[in-house]
Amino acid sequence: MTNDWKTRTRLVHDGSRRSQYGEMAEAIFLTQGFVYPTAEDAEARFVQAGPDEFIYARYGNPTTRMFEERIASLEGTEDAFATASGMAAVSGALMSMLRAGDHVVSARALFGSCLYVLEEVLQRFGVKVSFVDGADLGAWRAAVTPGTKAVFFEAMSNPTLELVDIRAVSQIAHAAGALVMCDNVFATPIFSRAVEQGADVVVYSTTKHIDGQGRALGGVVCASRDWIRKVLEPFMKHTGGSMSPFTAWMHLNGMATLDLRCRAMADTAHEVAVALEAAPKVARVIYPGLPSHRQHALAMAQMGSGGTLVSFEVKGGKEAAFRFMNALKIAKISNNLGDAKTIATHPATTTHQRLAQPTKDMLGITPGLIRLSLGLEDASDLIADLTQALALA
Ligand SMILES: *Cc1c(COP(=O)(O)O)cnc(C)c1O
Repeated sequence: MTNDWKTRTRLVHDGSRRSQYGEMAEAIFLTQGFVYPTAEDAEARFVQAGPDEFIYARYGNPTTRMFEERIASLEGTEDAFATASGMAAVSGALMSMLRAGDHVVSARALFGSCLYVLEEVLQRFGVKVSFVDGADLGAWRAAVTPGTKAVFFEAMSNPTLELVDIRAVSQIAHAAGALVMCDNVFATPIFSRAVEQGADVVVYSTTKHIDGQGRALGGVVCASRDWIRKVLEPFMKHTGGSMSPFTAWMHLNGMATLDLRCRAMADTAHEVAVALEAAPKVARVIYPGLPSHRQHALAMAQMGSGGTLVSFEVKGGKEAAFRFMNALKIAKISNNLGDAKTIATHPATTTHQRLAQPTKDMLGITPGLIRLSLGLEDASDLIADLTQALALA
């Protein structure tokens, strides 16, 4: 975007397009196709579609385009492509740029489906993937070679909230000529400065904070105009992972409050983390916004916030963790995040159940570990809820 508006202004206005009716609210164009005035117009549009010209909703749609322009403006990239889910964004971004024989270096602590794409799918198509400890710069340096095509990582890992130093890893990758792809869901688009810190491609599951109310599945890839239009778009539009205009419309509405929501959630996360650190039944609290987090300084430099999630370990293992979760009255047991409702997850038995025990041990996914995604409820109500549930753990 060419304006110098601040984030909140851009979240309300950027990307808006109005039809001849001048509607105030973003319109939802529930149409798969578009009518051409003449056969010559149809021919010309297939040669080169103009900025206000669309061909087919799998390629693009006015409502989806509004969402793409708004999120690109927020992330600080020239362009974006909206996808049917976060995994369509991750798999599309990787598969569109890679071919057999290519080498990728990835952080090991990944969202389960991201791990499946890198470990199973890409390798099946002849792409070699090396996994490293994302927090260990020496490991990145050792794994990235001049033949490496891309590096992939989640800027903040799930569920142990470890950070990857985006600036340092980008320097290592760029020196080898590799592209930097960052899944930035946990950092949220509000606290993200991934592009400024060196990431070339930033991927989101919009299912999380961007929707913010647990309604829609979606994703988006943000990058330079050249990369989006020349590398990603041909792959996405022909393989079918495009976002529904209805989802884009919900996201446009959600984005108006994205900054307010993420900041409120992060404030609550901080208060909850402080309260948990003082709770006798809690063995350890993981929150990047607290000085006790070993990457606290990096979190502050990289995001300026500890984010909207807190993980902690209940004393007494799985039994105590389950008693705690079952006693919660406000927080819900589920596995989404970034929702207006506070959500408690037991990673070892749900999101990370598939992992072998040695991998769980290596990633710190202990039987007593609970991940909280803080919502928009009153922080004191949440702390009271967590406190009464801990008493029963
Ligand atoms: C949820 C999530 C995804 C996948 O997104 P979907 O919208 O569920 O497909 C990918 N990466 C991270 C870090 C996530 O949290």
